[in-house]
Amino acid sequence: MQTFSIAIHGGAGTLVKGMMSPEKEAAYSAALKLALDGGYTILEKGGTAIDAVEAAVNALENCHLFNAGKGSVFTANGTHEMDASIMDGKTRNAGAVSLITGIKNPVSLARDVMEKSEHVFLAGDGAMQFAKELNYSLEDPAYFHDELRHQQWLEIKDSDTFQLDHSTKKDSKFGTVGAVACDKDGNIAAATSTGGMTNKKWGRVGDSPMVGGGNYANNKTCAISCTGSGEFFIRGVVAYDVACLIEHKNMSVQDAANEVIHKRILEIGGDGGLIAIDSKGMIAMPFNTEGMYRASKSSNGTEKMAIYR
Ligand code: ASP
Repeated sequence: MQTFSIAIHGGAGTLVKGMMSPEKEAAYSAALKLALDGGYTILEKGGTAIDAVEAAVNALENCHLFNAGKGSVFTANGTHEMDASIMDGKTRNAGAVSLITGIKNPVSLARDVMEKSEHVFLAGDGAMQFAKELNYSLEDPAYFHDELRHQQWLEIKDSDTFQLDHSTKKDSKFGTVGAVACDKDGNIAAATSTGGMTNKKWGRVGDSPMVGGGNYANNKTCAISCTGSGEFFIRGVVAYDVACLIEHKNMSVQDAANEVIHKRILEIGGDGGLIAIDSKGMIAMPFNTEGMYRASKSSNGTEKMAIYR
């Protein structure tokens, strides 16, 4: 019987055991579990991989703990600009949005770009116009206000520094969220959503909305969602590179993901991680940082949840 599985992440970084209170750790675990179970239930009922990844990412976008949707970090202007993408491994259809504001669930707008427009990638004012035409309601800035993230921003707002989510010089953490899934028909999909970097300016866009950069899906190889230093992940074309190793070098999803995260991306100085799945439901979740919020569940009975190395 076809194995169906799902994996999710809530960002990678300097997540060292003992740095977080037990209460906070429990809150992260509960949020990951909610997202994981939501996606898994869809697969269990015979739903599609694309529905499962959208639902799992929506749940993470609705939680203030992660740097996506509600928990998005502040830009240099004190606003929130979000990026997201989704890809269907069966058809290789994809949708992406960047530099959008006020949208509760950016990944759902990305899916609408895929399904309701002739395009793949819409950005900024144009993406907002598209959302308006689809009658998306806009949340006001208070919905996205998180005091912790506001403080992070206040600390660096008058400098030229920009930071990946909670990062300080000693503590870098990326809070992007993502999901990959394989359904009962062996179709796979990937979705990724982020608020980007604290204090970002000039319309900075990371890897998360980029097909082949931070997100990719192709039934023939794998579905991938990345988190980490976006500039490096773009240059490493990380998600597509994993797929290429599988396609052209016959590597397993685990070996290909390890090769890119522990070798290729490190060679150019990139830190972060990814989640990957193939059409047999095999999962890999490598990262080269101290930790990565991650969880997975498979119909073969395996279930994992972890934060640290
Ligand atoms: N990759 C994201 C970006 O560069 C950040 C993250 O993973 O948290 O926008």
